[in-house]
Amino acid sequence: MQRSGIVLLVSSLTLWVAVTALAERVPQQPPPEVVAELGLNYQIPDSFFPSKDFQAGRVADLAHDYDVIKYILEIRLSPSELINKLKGHATIQAKSGVSSLNTLSLDLAGLVVDSCKVNSRLTTFGRAGDKLNLTLDRAYKSGELFTAEVYYHGYPLAGLYFSYNKYGSPIYYTMVEPDRSKNWFPCYDQPSDKALSEVICTVPAGNEVISNGNLVNISNNPDKSVTYHWQENYPIATYLISLAAGNYAQIRDFMSLQNQDLSLSYWVYPQDSAKAVYDFQTVPEIISLFSELFGEYPFQAEKFSIAQAGLSGGMENQTCVSWGFPIEGNYTYEAIVAHEISHQWWGDLVTISDFGNMWLKEGLATYCEALWKEHHYGLDRFKGHMTGLEWHVLNDSLGSVSCPIYNPPPEYLFGKGVYRKGAWVMHMLRHVIGDNNFLNGLKAYAQQHAYSTANTEEFKNAMEEQSGQDLDWFFNQWVYSPNFPKYKWSWVYTYLQGKYYLDISIYQGQTAPLFYQMPVDFELTNASGKSRLSLFNSSRYQTYSFVLDDQPSGLIFDPDNWLLGVQAQSTYPAIAGDLTQDGQVRLNDVIFLVNLLFNKGPRPSPAALADVDGNCRVTIADIIYLSNYLSNKGPQPKIGCP
Ligand SMILES: [Zn+2]
Repeated sequence: MQRSGIVLLVSSLTLWVAVTALAERVPQQPPPEVVAELGLNYQIPDSFFPSKDFQAGRVADLAHDYDVIKYILEIRLSPSELINKLKGHATIQAKSGVSSLNTLSLDLAGLVVDSCKVNSRLTTFGRAGDKLNLTLDRAYKSGELFTAEVYYHGYPLAGLYFSYNKYGSPIYYTMVEPDRSKNWFPCYDQPSDKALSEVICTVPAGNEVISNGNLVNISNNPDKSVTYHWQENYPIATYLISLAAGNYAQIRDFMSLQNQDLSLSYWVYPQDSAKAVYDFQTVPEIISLFSELFGEYPFQAEKFSIAQAGLSGGMENQTCVSWGFPIEGNYTYEAIVAHEISHQWWGDLVTISDFGNMWLKEGLATYCEALWKEHHYGLDRFKGHMTGLEWHVLNDSLGSVSCPIYNPPPEYLFGKGVYRKGAWVMHMLRHVIGDNNFLNGLKAYAQQHAYSTANTEEFKNAMEEQSGQDLDWFFNQWVYSPNFPKYKWSWVYTYLQGKYYLDISIYQGQTAPLFYQMPVDFELTNASGKSRLSLFNSSRYQTYSFVLDDQPSGLIFDPDNWLLGVQAQSTYPAIAGDLTQDGQVRLNDVIFLVNLLFNKGPRPSPAALADVDGNCRVTIADIIYLSNYLSNKGPQPKIGCP
């Protein structure tokens, strides 16, 4: 008798794909463990809005044919004036990058330019869109230096903000990432051209100005204003040049690092100072940790500081983080403190060469949140943090995660893909090349590009050099491709001829990329305890076979949570009873089974297909069971155990 049916004829793989949709659903509300680890308020730490013509991957600007050496920004803030709140005098020392430079083209948005000078002499200038073009006094050959000055005033519509804090005190602050520096000073507003800087800012008396680097002077002026002069002696990108001014209480601290004192300061609203002492208590320990992991603190001769301001997040301005999160004295934002401190290495010391590489600094900084927890609290909290980040990624499958994290569209520059998937990419890279290679690779990357810039390929090269592995495949699938894998896995085993035969299958159900190559670990439990099976998954559908002495009793997919993605356990994708795998259950399967047991015939694949009665062993009873089924008397065949 031949018995077949529609259900049996449908490839079990197709069935599997059909049920995958159910398994892909991720709960819309964060599970309690995610809330417990990240808090309900956990958000992208530094999320802002690019200007309307922002292009993340604008690698080269044709007009940028010079190299800025230094910005000296003299800024007078007159908050009481309605439309002329800012008066500026920017001095830009630069050097020609072409054989004949006649015009200096700077970025400047809004504001009124009063006059311009080149080498101390007045010159003509023109405005075109967000460009300010100064006529140079002669053609400058490549490498020749010149100094340009711009006198300007107006009301910045973005980048520099005037507001009141929650206690009603005035607060003035900059928040410019990625490209809003041009709203408060003329510059080349791309991160690739780092320069030295000085911020000399005059504000009404009673305010304190905080900026990058060292404070070199404070002068009280006859007109009841006060001028703060800050100097940044390490190269800085324009998006990290900052100022924050207000009525501050300064909490001073210091730590010993590399046998030197590092000055620490937290400028906060006086009403928040006691809480700030509590919330920022672990700053020295965080700096010590990252110095140990990534190399010495990059701005040792200056400071690390935090200035409270009105922004809706945190911003890693070089040597002085701007802090807009609540200071509540309950340590809620400790992960963000770690995030912003880590940016002193990832973003400030090594700056991304353009914002298409945003994931490099944000992925690392977000991963550093978890590294801090691993160091301070232990592995469970580390895992909890990573699980929380993963939950956010999996719930954004139709949003930012549907685009590659490299060079995302502007609306996703601050998306979960760049930050949280970025952190997971770092985590998985750590697994692929190993702890030592990962950490040594980070150190080498920091050294190779210190006080300069780097991009994704340069990061990849550092990791390849360190690990001796070709990592094109890894970066292609995780960084240059969208989405995440959707794993369906299953296992079956049976006892046959004195051994246990275990088969594992892994299927990836995502639409693109077609498959991810990754090491996949399983934890196997049997009578002798727990052991690891380290597999390499390199195709959309893959099976793995093992011969064991002991009976397996449990199998866990990715027990240490190294893999980003959805995973669900399923039934093994084979037709029970179809030992010959011709798509039907019929007499030839009984013959196959008889040959296996009595004529040294081949084993089916998986071997558990022979265990049609599902009692975890293949015996003559299976022949009877299958025969009964085919003669319409017996129950459905099974595929071994579990
Ligand atoms: Zn960040």
